[in-house]
Amino acid sequence: MTTPLAPVLSAFWDHPESWTLKTYLDHGGYEGLKKAFTQKPEELTQAIKDSGLRGRGGAGFPTGMKWGFLPPADGGPRYLVVNADESEPGTCKDIPLMMAAPQFLIEGVIITSYAIGCNHAFIYLRGEVVHVYRRLLRAVEEAYAAGYLGKNIQGSGFDLDVTVHAGAGAYICGEETALLDSLEGRRGQPRLKPPFPAVAGLYARPTVVNNVESVASVPEIINRGADWFTSMGTERSAGNGIFSLSGHVNKPGQYEAPLGITLRELIDMAGGMRNGNDIKFWTPGGSSTPIFTKEHLDVPLDYESVGAAGSMLGTRALQIFDETTSVVRAVTRWTEFYAHESCGKCTPCREGTYWLKQILRRLEQGKGREGDIETLLDTCDNILGRSFCALGDGATSSITSAIQYFREEFEAGMHTPASELFPPQRSALF
Ligand code: NAD
Ligand code: SF4
Repeated sequence: MTTPLAPVLSAFWDHPESWTLKTYLDHGGYEGLKKAFTQKPEELTQAIKDSGLRGRGGAGFPTGMKWGFLPPADGGPRYLVVNADESEPGTCKDIPLMMAAPQFLIEGVIITSYAIGCNHAFIYLRGEVVHVYRRLLRAVEEAYAAGYLGKNIQGSGFDLDVTVHAGAGAYICGEETALLDSLEGRRGQPRLKPPFPAVAGLYARPTVVNNVESVASVPEIINRGADWFTSMGTERSAGNGIFSLSGHVNKPGQYEAPLGITLRELIDMAGGMRNGNDIKFWTPGGSSTPIFTKEHLDVPLDYESVGAAGSMLGTRALQIFDETTSVVRAVTRWTEFYAHESCGKCTPCREGTYWLKQILRRLEQGKGREGDIETLLDTCDNILGRSFCALGDGATSSITSAIQYFREEFEAGMHTPASELFPPQRSALF
């Protein structure tokens, strides 16, 4: 059993005015910034390296190492861009965090900018979440009014401006280089890497692109110290994080816990399975990661253990499906999403996701043809590792893993509609 954790990022989400600067200050906010201003920027980067914080956007890249990749200062601008374009199916942690306690992010932006020598930071947000956009604008306004943003912040001599930018709503704009193109005013499509944004990012200048939760984790690491952070989680997956549970549990929502907790423990926290049903399959990190089944309930949810069990921790988006769910229907819905969101830049993903969707739709309707499963697997094989960005690879994960665990359900799609085998639940998408 993983050690229980006193919530940090979600500590006061149930406060009636959790989002205000006053509430944040009442709960110890901006203590990290005070400490940060007594240290040299390179000491802050070292503290984040020592904490073992890994990117919370899904890839798990070490955050301090990413900051350390910036080339030496050359007198020109360098930028921090916060990736707030949360879009991975099932992922709902950054948006609740920004709605409930946006000052965590603003304080993290200030400390990160100070550490990397940036005087203009950007928060890039999905265009559809207008309520979050308004909340962030208000939070930034409050921070300016209280002297946490602008010129000579809190008498430190450090200047920082923050721009909140809402995109037009495209999954691909969560890919960091597509996000930068979109922020620059172009159509959001991935750029060739290298060069990585650390070297040539926004306006071709050195840029750190970090996820919301990664940046929001920085203030408490600086305030309480790297050792505090490494005392949670596992040796190589340190710290706490927000897990989003959706689907067939009694209390879906966000649960803050140390990395290494298991789904069995999280389901307990979420009040158990709906109607006492058995779990059938689930995603450890959103629909771009291979699905897991009942046999994986005790896999520790850290990067290494999930990887060793055949999937990825990704965004910790735990979508949970009980025994009443058709896996073919779920996989078809996800694939329709990827086909819709494919940006069209490269052939394997653009054409491949279209054909995957066509085949899955007929299997879902019980009109599958001989050889369809082999064609699905062959098409996935031609997308995986041959696409320009991670979207293409991610589109194949649920299909190949679902066929691995539930092949007989796909075979049934040759003659029987999924709706006959698993009547759709009116209360759920799947
Ligand atoms: P990646 O592993 O290619 O890169 C991770 C980060 O490390 C990037 O910021 C990259 O610039 C940096 N990096 C890697 N190598 C570097 C080097 N040599 N020098 C400098 N910087 C370097 O992963 P990615 O393509 O950015 O992201 C894929 C992940 O995104 C997936 O694992 C998925 O979980 C996640 N994802 C998240 C969402 C969401 O809504 N949060 C949506 C889709 C996908
Ligand atoms: Fe665009 Fe898909 Fe190719 Fe990524 S993999 S560049 S989303 S077409």
